[in-house]
Amino acid sequence: MQGLMQDWPLLQSKLIDHAARAHPEREIVTYSVEGPVHRTNYRELHLRSKKLAQAMQRLGVGLGDRVGTLAWNTWRHVELWFGVSGMGAVAHTINPRLFAEQITYIANHAGDKVLCLDLTFIPLIEPLLDQLQSIEHFIIMTDRAHMPAATKIPNPLCYEDLIAHEDGAYSWPDLDENTAAGLCYTSGTTGDPKGVLYSHRSNLLHTFAAAATDTLGVSARDAVLPVVPMFHANSWGVPYLAAMVGAKLVLNGPHHDPETMWTLLDSERVSVTAAVPTVWLALLTYLRASGKSLPYLKNVTIGGSAAPRSMIEAFERDYDVRVCHAWGMTELSPLGTVGTHNAQTAELDFDGRMDVQCKQGRAVFGVEMRIVDSEGHILPHDGKASGHLQVRGPWTAKAYFNRDDEILDMDGFFDTGDVSQIDTYGFMQITDRSKDVIKSGGEWISSIDLENAAVGHPDVREAAVIGIAHPKWDERPLLIIVPEPGKSISKDDMLAYLHGRVVKWWMPDDVVCRDSIPHTATGKIHKMALREQFRDYRFP
Ligand code: ADP
Repeated sequence: MQGLMQDWPLLQSKLIDHAARAHPEREIVTYSVEGPVHRTNYRELHLRSKKLAQAMQRLGVGLGDRVGTLAWNTWRHVELWFGVSGMGAVAHTINPRLFAEQITYIANHAGDKVLCLDLTFIPLIEPLLDQLQSIEHFIIMTDRAHMPAATKIPNPLCYEDLIAHEDGAYSWPDLDENTAAGLCYTSGTTGDPKGVLYSHRSNLLHTFAAAATDTLGVSARDAVLPVVPMFHANSWGVPYLAAMVGAKLVLNGPHHDPETMWTLLDSERVSVTAAVPTVWLALLTYLRASGKSLPYLKNVTIGGSAAPRSMIEAFERDYDVRVCHAWGMTELSPLGTVGTHNAQTAELDFDGRMDVQCKQGRAVFGVEMRIVDSEGHILPHDGKASGHLQVRGPWTAKAYFNRDDEILDMDGFFDTGDVSQIDTYGFMQITDRSKDVIKSGGEWISSIDLENAAVGHPDVREAAVIGIAHPKWDERPLLIIVPEPGKSISKDDMLAYLHGRVVKWWMPDDVVCRDSIPHTATGKIHKMALREQFRDYRFP
């Protein structure tokens, strides 16, 4: 027997309709690309997203067409997401931090029909124009006054002119909830970037889950700042959940320096935020140097890479800000686990709670998670067994856009490429990427654990560990450190510091200092580039 409830397709257009109806006055504040602070609200954003849909239609964009963006987090980018997906086209965020050839590959592979770009990215796209195969229109995301006097971009259209030309009298089409809504490519540190094609349904279900108290816990009373860019796994869904719950949405545009970040947090009274660890490490250094505080900030969600314990502790102890780990990936829309406490762990003392907060957290409902060994046997959740992390659920990818590779196993699980442990409470801890784990004498050494221990040293700014071939043990760890400016650290100092903090047989066989470490376009340590740099390295 079937239930007797209404069919109400889970569409993104319903989300922005709701925001305009339920909290029309709630603000969206942007530190804009052009400079000034820009303020709008959900009523305006709703109207402008409809005008944008009309403008896109006029340009010939139809159902399923891809509209690429090279853009920072701004109100224009958010309304574009809603307008493009609402009309049944696909909003395709491109990460401008990728190499030029990857950007060209991605735009061509996606078959983007229109490319919308911020002023910042005009110099990035000009040299690539000859290679872009499918783009019929380029829209510069600015107003008439800021349009470039001269550019090699053919017939550049002005975003604000397009909006001004429309009246907003537009009805969203009734789409199937499984219609594609967004497209995002993984940064592809191995092989070509791969496109993850989100549906309206997957994005809406992800938004419900993201908004829950134990996930990102954002309410109508919060002001939320997603520092994580919209081109990095949908800004972890924060703009959608802000629209759902009626939170004030604060956007940092092109500004990522700690001083602007602090000003934004303070002046807009931001209570919840999300970012990769490097941004928060820079903010911490700034706070310490300036003596400033964070009176309004309650909760920081950190993901993308593991946050070092020293940072999690400092924010909580010195600034009364709870740092919560989250783990996810582009293929998971991106949320998989979040490190909010359960009833038992919340009762632990400071050190015990920090032990828990260093883990990546518990699976959100909608993410089934398991660990398996190399033969595919399911491993216990005992906090000891380490295995390949696999997931399935309604916002996990089942295939990549325009590729034939099978990405699910017979049970429908997706292999994340991460190695992890899961404890008896269900807290998952990433120990490594499968390809980064160091295989020493048949056992695994976690490069992440070693790196986190090393950055606990007050003179270490950043640390990376890679496996180096070893005649007896197969591989052994090499620790590469970037000292804080003006500091130097000897190998003996570093090893003495690690003594007692990591198990003996994990001790790096050598420690080398560098001025910098390469990063990927999503801010992670670029292990492949590092391995290349140290290809000819041999232990002393
Ligand atoms: P890309 O692959 O394009 O760099 P993703 O965001 O999809 O971007 O990367 C996902 C990967 O990032 C995960 O598989 C995992 O290795 C790593 N990651 C994400 N969150 C965390 C975290 N909290 N701690 C450790 N690693 C993380």
